Amino acid sequence: MRSISVFGATGSIGESTFDLLMRQGGRAAFRTVALTGGRNVARLAAQARALGAEVAVTAHDDCLPDLRAALAGSGVEAAAGAAALLEAADRPADWVMSAIIGAAGLAPGFRALRHGGTLALANKESLVTAGPLLLAEAARHGARILPVDSEHSAVFQALAGEDIAAVERVIITASGGAFRDWPLERLARATVAEASNHPTWAMGQRITIDSASMFNKAMELIETREFFGVNPAQIEVLVHPESIVHALVGFADGALMAHLGAPDMRHAIGYALNWPLRAALPVPRLDLAALGQLSFRAPDPLRWPALRLAREVMELRGLAGAVFNAAKEVALDSFIAGQVGFMDMAGLVEGTIDKMVTRQSLGNAATSLDMVLQTDAEARAVARALIGQEKD
Ligand code: NDP
Repeated sequence: MRSISVFGATGSIGESTFDLLMRQGGRAAFRTVALTGGRNVARLAAQARALGAEVAVTAHDDCLPDLRAALAGSGVEAAAGAAALLEAADRPADWVMSAIIGAAGLAPGFRALRHGGTLALANKESLVTAGPLLLAEAARHGARILPVDSEHSAVFQALAGEDIAAVERVIITASGGAFRDWPLERLARATVAEASNHPTWAMGQRITIDSASMFNKAMELIETREFFGVNPAQIEVLVHPESIVHALVGFADGALMAHLGAPDMRHAIGYALNWPLRAALPVPRLDLAALGQLSFRAPDPLRWPALRLAREVMELRGLAGAVFNAAKEVALDSFIAGQVGFMDMAGLVEGTIDKMVTRQSLGNAATSLDMVLQTDAEARAVARALIGQEKD
């Protein structure tokens, strides 16, 4: 029986993963090692009971009493805190979903690679901040990383059986998010509620706002480079409002292989869960005749400066991705807290990169996870100082 763990089980990706695990047989088909969550302990406990998990871990110490109470009599162990998350990752599992949001997902994913199994990687921050380290760790332990981000899963599928040397270009699509068609001058006054309203995908709030600003696509550009080893100049972003074509791969003979599917993350998660096989998945089937037409357009650089910043980060390489992600997280927190405007986020990220570049050579390759996490902490301090939250 295949053993599995899900990190970030209570989130948007985590819930979709749980849904698939239950549909594919639940505890009769999988031995669940660890499930982890944050503050939603009621949901974590319900999932852990349903799957008969060995351990359920909340990231927050103060949530432990509630988790214990919710698991009473179930036989599921309860634990809390960052060390407990790592301990959960140390428990061998054949298939591990990495779906904690943000840089907090980095260390558990790294640890899970040590068992040489499969890491289904939704946590895009892992590749953006520490791509080369993560891939080297996987190679060292004979582990496999499968992409869960829909665009990267689409590229992965388009590349099946193909020669990577024959790839000319990789095109990832973007819906354009909540403000795709807003007049530019209105963006500065955009509210959190408006930015949290995605036109096509149902996702967590943070990634939905990142879609509106295209910071999400900017992260995906960097992820594409790291995961598939293509040059930045070979990667393009195409605005595609319908979110039906997730990515295209262009080959030396001029052929473009596209991946189409309904915007439902259970497709990419299910692909990673069942790879190399394909299982029946509960996702809507496309009716192209009913859709009638699909549209594409080039991204507007004024509306989405995050894409330019991602290209600068890809040029810098090294620790620039860690700075970019940390500054983006501070910018997003500040926007959600009402401290900065929607269009100020890109300026804050750019300002943080500029300041960090003068302090250290960001192009130096990260040699350890600690180095990445230290750079992450420094970049957060610089970003907070820039908006006057604390002294740098
Ligand atoms: P959510 O915010 O919906 O869920 C995040 C999960 O992480 C929850 O289980 C949450 O717990 C937990 N969590 C939050 N903070 C911490 C922390 N500090 N330490 C440990 N656990 C924590 O995120 P999503 O599911 O939307 O995204 C997860 C990852 O997948 C992200 O990296 C995102 O970029 C990526 N992704 C998401 C997609 C989507 O469709 N949602 C698509 C592609 C990639 P709790 O809720 O209990 O507090």
